[in-house]
Amino acid sequence: MEGNFKLKRIVNVNDREYKWPVKPLAVICIDGSEPEYIERAIQAGQMPFTAQLLNTGIDLRVDCVIPSFTNPNNVSIVTGCPPSMHGICGNFFYDPHAESEVMMNDPKYMHVPTIFAAFEKEGAKILVVTAKDKLRKLLGHGLTFGSGGSICVSAEKADIASLEENGCEDLLNLTGLPLPNVYSADLSEFVFASGLALLENAKPDLIYLSTTDYIQHKFAPGTEGANRFYNMMDGYWSKLSASGADLVLTADHGMSAKHDSKGNPDVIYLQDSLDAWLGVGVARVILPITDPYVAHHGALGSFATIYISNELEVLPTISKLKDLNGILEVLGKNEACERFDLPSDRIGDIVIISEDRKVLGINPGHHDFSGLDVPLRSHGGLSEQVVPLISNKTFKTEAIKDTKLKNFDAFHLGLNLT
Ligand SMILES: [Zn+2]
Repeated sequence: MEGNFKLKRIVNVNDREYKWPVKPLAVICIDGSEPEYIERAIQAGQMPFTAQLLNTGIDLRVDCVIPSFTNPNNVSIVTGCPPSMHGICGNFFYDPHAESEVMMNDPKYMHVPTIFAAFEKEGAKILVVTAKDKLRKLLGHGLTFGSGGSICVSAEKADIASLEENGCEDLLNLTGLPLPNVYSADLSEFVFASGLALLENAKPDLIYLSTTDYIQHKFAPGTEGANRFYNMMDGYWSKLSASGADLVLTADHGMSAKHDSKGNPDVIYLQDSLDAWLGVGVARVILPITDPYVAHHGALGSFATIYISNELEVLPTISKLKDLNGILEVLGKNEACERFDLPSDRIGDIVIISEDRKVLGINPGHHDFSGLDVPLRSHGGLSEQVVPLISNKTFKTEAIKDTKLKNFDAFHLGLNLT
């Protein structure tokens, strides 16, 4: 495997050339990491390794893709391109012809290969560890597993990982940790413990570690719960670096408080208004944050798309939506796809984004708040678009600082620009 690092190969994928890594490169996607989390944890002395790293490395604030949700951004990072190219723009979309809502967590909905699949074809070994299993198949799409192959595994299903399906087994023994609960900080810790053990064990060339935002949904930046979590991550990053990996740290999206002064979710229910204006059955609201794991956000985010069966009603509805209190942006499909690089076949006639403290809902009966044991914090909108892009490497040239990098340039940064 060491021989790989000596060759100066170039890998071409999704309209970009990537240089072969000189050392193993670990890109870490910290789910829901509003920049203030790291800033406050460093101020509190909880991230000594990262504080030191920032003295000589790279510390940027960049945009994530909109909607600022987990899957569109993770897929953007691992393909190096926006949703208009790779096709994943939420957890599900509406197919108006089939009149059904379609889950988008199957790799068959991805239009392009990942950076990993392209590198593997050239002989690289890939290591991917994700917190929740929902992302595993998307991230590992096109990889080859089995003895000596790549590795793609989730912390959630670590106990049933197999050589055949995941490229590794026996992770509980390897990490010395018990199987974590899916709603816990331990789930993310397991990602790092696995990444560290497998870095030493399997000698990968490219590494991708993706956490869960369970902590960020519950704790604001600078709080004890948040700082403890960032302290845990800082310790693992230090160990990954000591084991010889270069690091690029970024996030899939930020996170904002989305509640009123009494601590109740501050929701704009769209379906009720639309039904009152247009009659029942004309408009359909899709909340692409909805997934099988809604306990910590109640399927409430700041981005929605709306399908309208009568196209004459689209423009009048856009102007009515703009008048609702708490709405930041209402765009027609073409305008939204152009501005946010979205795939037009998976977006409704209207895209709507709420102000930072508000979320968009269907109607009161649709959302279950029983899993919310703290006031709602969520994401999806423009207020959660700015994320960190940090590396222990340094830029090659000053000119690069003028490039408008995004979070999905993480591998480009780590392989080409440093
Ligand atoms: Zn996320």
